[in-house]
Amino acid sequence: MAAIDMKNIVKKYGDGFPAVNDVSIDVQDGEFMILVGPSGCGKSTLLRMIVGLEDITSGDMMIGDKRVNDLAPRDRNLSMVFQNYALYPHLTVYENIAFPLRLAKTPDAEVDEKVRAASKTLELDEHLERKPGNLSGGQRQRVAMGRAIVRDADAFLFDEPLSNLDAKLRGQMRSEIARLQKRLGITTVYVTHDQTEAMTLGDRVAVLKRGILQQLATPRELYENP
Ligand code: ADP
Ligand code: ADP
Repeated sequence: MAAIDMKNIVKKYGDGFPAVNDVSIDVQDGEFMILVGPSGCGKSTLLRMIVGLEDITSGDMMIGDKRVNDLAPRDRNLSMVFQNYALYPHLTVYENIAFPLRLAKTPDAEVDEKVRAASKTLELDEHLERKPGNLSGGQRQRVAMGRAIVRDADAFLFDEPLSNLDAKLRGQMRSEIARLQKRLGITTVYVTHDQTEAMTLGDRVAVLKRGILQQLATPRELYENP
């Protein structure tokens, strides 16, 4: 786990327009931080700068006590959970979760220990031999999270993970993600354009508009002072 401290982050794309304009957000160790705002407000750009997929024009991106501005994504030890889950249809749940460990050439015994521990936490232990195509949307989401967990990442990043689900499943997954995050206590940054998600999921909410941080507050404070 680690805190993520963004200090005066600016991102200008090729045409010089500031997609992110002097944004400072201090995500505490173990905190669930939401980035919310309308399309084009800069939230994906900010998330991609945390992961290292986008260069930072100016400012400091700190993970723990390390400045990571120039670190490659693979050296940042973060786990990103994508919108479409990116599961491998031909692999079992077990092998989908084990995938990052296989890539890292982790010994079999250790892979087994980690996959079983993660699937227990995620209540997937009865589904390890099944294929993703036979699972519900919620179960698939948990497999994607299992893959993120086994890596012992310092933080989770979510890019609109529920936007492709129907309203009912979205509601279920919302509470599931909140419950899991609390249980794991892992630092989390979660991007959404959905107000309800923002107000129900996070410890704090960062509201962005046209690249500028408008508010940084708890959901309760936002209700009282919208
Ligand atoms: P959001 O995730 O909130 O929808 P983005 O971070 O995708 O917002 O975009 C923020 C701004 O940056 C928008 O004005 C968008 O047009 C611009 N932008 C995003 N990606 C690029 C890119 N690769 N090149 C140029 N401009 C971009
Ligand atoms: P868009 O800019 O079209 O909205 P995304 O924000 O989903 O697309 O882009 C994320 C990109 O980052 C994808 O092309 C994905 O393949 C790439 N990527 C590769 N490895 C990682 C990783 N470990 N964490 C996050 N993103 C990754």
